[in-house]
Amino acid sequence: MIEVPEGVAAVAWSLGDVPAYVYDLAALDAHAAAVRAATEGVEIHYAVKANPDPEVLHTLAPHVDGLEVASGGEFAHVRSVLPDMPVSVGGPGKTADELALAPSAYRWHVESPAELRRLAGPAEVLLRVNLDVPVSGASLAMGGGATPFGMDPAGVAECLASLASSSVRLRGIHAHLASGLAAPALLALADAVLAYARGLGVAEINLGGGMAVAYDDPDARFDWAAYGAGLRERARPGETLRIEPGRALTAYCGWYLTTVIDVKRVHGERFAVLSGGTHHLRTPVTKGHDQPFAVLGGGSPAEPTTLVGRLCTPKDVFARKVPASLGVGDVVAFAMAGAYAWNISHHDFLMHPKPAFHHLR
Ligand SMILES: *Cc1c(COP(=O)(O)O)cnc(C)c1O
Repeated sequence: MIEVPEGVAAVAWSLGDVPAYVYDLAALDAHAAAVRAATEGVEIHYAVKANPDPEVLHTLAPHVDGLEVASGGEFAHVRSVLPDMPVSVGGPGKTADELALAPSAYRWHVESPAELRRLAGPAEVLLRVNLDVPVSGASLAMGGGATPFGMDPAGVAECLASLASSSVRLRGIHAHLASGLAAPALLALADAVLAYARGLGVAEINLGGGMAVAYDDPDARFDWAAYGAGLRERARPGETLRIEPGRALTAYCGWYLTTVIDVKRVHGERFAVLSGGTHHLRTPVTKGHDQPFAVLGGGSPAEPTTLVGRLCTPKDVFARKVPASLGVGDVVAFAMAGAYAWNISHHDFLMHPKPAFHHLR
């Protein structure tokens, strides 16, 4: 059962045919404060690609130590929104213009020996390693096998050999091996990364993000208390441990509201056609899940319904054959739309109006 916050419902009641995003900044502030408290002693750099909305960044800023960006575009954006925030820069392919940003980055995440050779410096670098460790159960794997992300230990060794004579300063190791993992699985990965980094004698270790977000269980939360306690137990004096959560910080604060414009039965299946579409909220398509939602209005008996947008493609589906009590004119409030949602979506397809954006404080 999804409870729609009052402020979100207020937007829904006055929603017309143009969909809206609502970011509940008060909820985000409370959630980020809880994450900060649970992970005391560990540095947090928010992974900006999850949601770069300026007001989201301003809300998170007091609760994090820095921001992690993955492009020159994100770098310029966060510099304009939060000029004083330390910024880590990563990403598997960096252009010459991007490499020139290295001197103004707090940390530079080097992804290959060739990138290191192209890096003029000065730069404070972490070498991104892809360890051959099992990442089963992950929703996305960036490590644990052949991927374009980071280097295997042989690549790291090549970098270490060439660092001795350069203006580029080695600070430590970076790893972001998998996403969608619960605390025990992430701590097991941390053990592997810590053992590897300690073997190299570096004191700064970035363990990445990837904390699980369960779209099929909207009330569930990643166990930040267990993860924070586990990291504190593992930390050794003189070491800096850093994490880079994205999705698990901002997913819950976002809502996408859209009106039901048609309900019909076709070859026995009931469809609700919405005024918006997955060109505004692409998350359910990319993740292959049913996006959780609540209906404002309703009152009709719940029936299995497929909720679709109005794009001319059968892929424009938010949820398939889920029980829904809705009719024309009702508003569907999709929950968990605060991460990898608007900013990963193909907005211009079919030239529909863009949603309105509301920020609740
Ligand atoms: C995307 C990304 C993150 C954040 O991952 P989440 O699953 O959103 O927590 C962190 N670090 C790197 C290097 C990333 O690419």
